[in-house]
Amino acid sequence: MGKLQIRQIRLQEIAMPLKSAFETSFGVTTTRRVLIVQASDGNGFCGYGECTAMDRPFYNHETVDSAWMVICRFIVPLLKQAEVTSADDVGDALRAIQGNRMAVGAVETAIWDLESMELDSPLWKRLGGNREVIDCGVSIGLQSTTELLVEKVAREIASGYQRIKIKIKPGQDVDLVEAVRKEFPEITLSVDANAAYILERDLDLLKELDSYDLLMIEQPLATGALLAHAKLQSQLETPICLDESITSFEDAQQAIEMDACRIINVKLGRVGGHVSAKRIQEFAAGKGIPVWCGGMLETGIGRAHNIAMSTLPGFTLPGDVSASARYWETDITEPLVEVSPEGTIAVPAGPGIGYTVKEEGMEAITVRSETLSL
Ligand SMILES: [Mg+2]
Repeated sequence: MGKLQIRQIRLQEIAMPLKSAFETSFGVTTTRRVLIVQASDGNGFCGYGECTAMDRPFYNHETVDSAWMVICRFIVPLLKQAEVTSADDVGDALRAIQGNRMAVGAVETAIWDLESMELDSPLWKRLGGNREVIDCGVSIGLQSTTELLVEKVAREIASGYQRIKIKIKPGQDVDLVEAVRKEFPEITLSVDANAAYILERDLDLLKELDSYDLLMIEQPLATGALLAHAKLQSQLETPICLDESITSFEDAQQAIEMDACRIINVKLGRVGGHVSAKRIQEFAAGKGIPVWCGGMLETGIGRAHNIAMSTLPGFTLPGDVSASARYWETDITEPLVEVSPEGTIAVPAGPGIGYTVKEEGMEAITVRSETLSL
């Protein structure tokens, strides 16, 4: 087996209709625009990655369109110039690119899949994963009424999910937590604010959340506000979990050392791919900080990469990796990802991401595509 050769990068934008609208503090999503990256070696092997950027720059600065442009104009030329021969080296080859981690991550993860396919080895084993099942939690968007939220929580618990996370925003927070806790006093519950609160304005309210035995309060304050998170953490019993704030290994290191968080949500795209995610979980584990895998409304491709990442030893809390059927009528990979009644997903045994990409099904919902040679 020779060294990895990347001959072609193909970008495909698909339009995936969501089963039901998903609301966070950023707004409502009904169709997910997704950018899929395919990396080929010219010898019949290819690997897939998914860009987790959203349609609009509200979760972070990236969008499907910005990622498309950055991959075509900067990532592919840099890869060509670097003559990368291992998935491990992709991050270094792209080091000149500031930010745009989701664009980088989409390509990096596709190349990891490609290399694993060439080596006929499961991606999760190549990353250093050590578990054959992963624990699953679920994230529930803001609902029109509190009753509906409580109903949804009941349904997800019945499906087996081990941890329930509810989205909150100013005006829809303590009451929701109170209602869910009252109905389900024993469940593992957390909240996610998607950066919607301001320390000076909302400190008392955030402190109120301390009385509901939450596993964590996820990203209460602004993305760049590490110092404010540290100030808040010093006044809370409940661990703060950072999501949006952690875009790199350096962010994670800084946040942990200043006690701005006691849990980290690692999102593969947000941190720029597998090598970065692996470094973060390793460092966090060394400091006794648990990490878990967050979700970005991924298709089966992104989900498969999340499953592989979640097998790493530092991922000790249930992630937001849920069943395909929760979000999609049909998925672009098979078999569908299913969650057992115990709230686990079995890690696939096959090479690469371990799921088959349904190329025809994907073509049918393709909005645009572009192929670049290396
Ligand atoms: Mg989050």
